[in-house]
Amino acid sequence: MSDARLTTEYLAELHVHLEGTIRRETAMTMSVQNGLPEPPQYEYSDLAGFLAVYGLVSGCMVTSHDFERVIFEHGEAMASQHITYAEISFNPSLHVADGWIDGVVRGRASVAQEFGIEIAWLVELVRGGSATANERALDIALTTEGVVGVGLVGNESISAAPLAGLVERAHAAGLGFMPHAGQVGGPDVVREAVEVLGATRVAHGVGAEPDADVLRLLVDRGVCLCVCPSSNARIGLKPNFRKFADLSIPLVVNTDDPALVPTTLQRELAVAETAHRLNRGALIAAAWQHRFGRHG
Ligand SMILES: [Zn+2]
Repeated sequence: MSDARLTTEYLAELHVHLEGTIRRETAMTMSVQNGLPEPPQYEYSDLAGFLAVYGLVSGCMVTSHDFERVIFEHGEAMASQHITYAEISFNPSLHVADGWIDGVVRGRASVAQEFGIEIAWLVELVRGGSATANERALDIALTTEGVVGVGLVGNESISAAPLAGLVERAHAAGLGFMPHAGQVGGPDVVREAVEVLGATRVAHGVGAEPDADVLRLLVDRGVCLCVCPSSNARIGLKPNFRKFADLSIPLVVNTDDPALVPTTLQRELAVAETAHRLNRGALIAAAWQHRFGRHG
């Protein structure tokens, strides 16, 4: 891609996990400061391997200062890629210490001040998580500055239907909802996300591909899929993104976990264009169109 394109496009990203932005060197430093074992190398080849690394790396980020540092460093990374708006998720069930949420608020403010980038947060619920933990996550979503939505992560073989009440409360409060569904799970997981939980934006969603009825559901409801080509490839998945584009299902490309994959949003746009024949301009426009926050 030309330098001109890089300097004239302002990008939005909608599917990126804060815990997946932690640089390896930063994880090492934080682990020492917090008296924790050294985090693993960022090496994995399947989802189970990824989750093992992800859990240990996430655990290195403990204090409010740690959160502020990680957010600021991702702000630097976004600035270098001309990202001016990002909806970034975090998972409270991975962080049990007190006080870290202050670092989330401060980190967001410092990225706005230093780089002119707006961060909007999604707070993640967990499939099969305890009611207490998911209630706590919703409380954080409802009371923390800068939150625009709720996410959903966890084992896709576990139904998310028991969380419908929490999702309804989030919707009633004006928050968006972007569940992970159809990353490794099949069409029924995507159908549940849309029909039972009312999702209008789905993280991944590519597992819908074999089922014409679920594809039609996505088309009819105008559901946007926030897909992640390199993240998928790193765990051995090869979705047919082109099929969704041919059905005019809105697609947005994302990094998912830029430090762990590793990748950048600029790289994902290039991969989408060259390896999957997706339209770069349409991908960039869809990210702006389908964001939950309306101030970016
Ligand atoms: Zn994700």
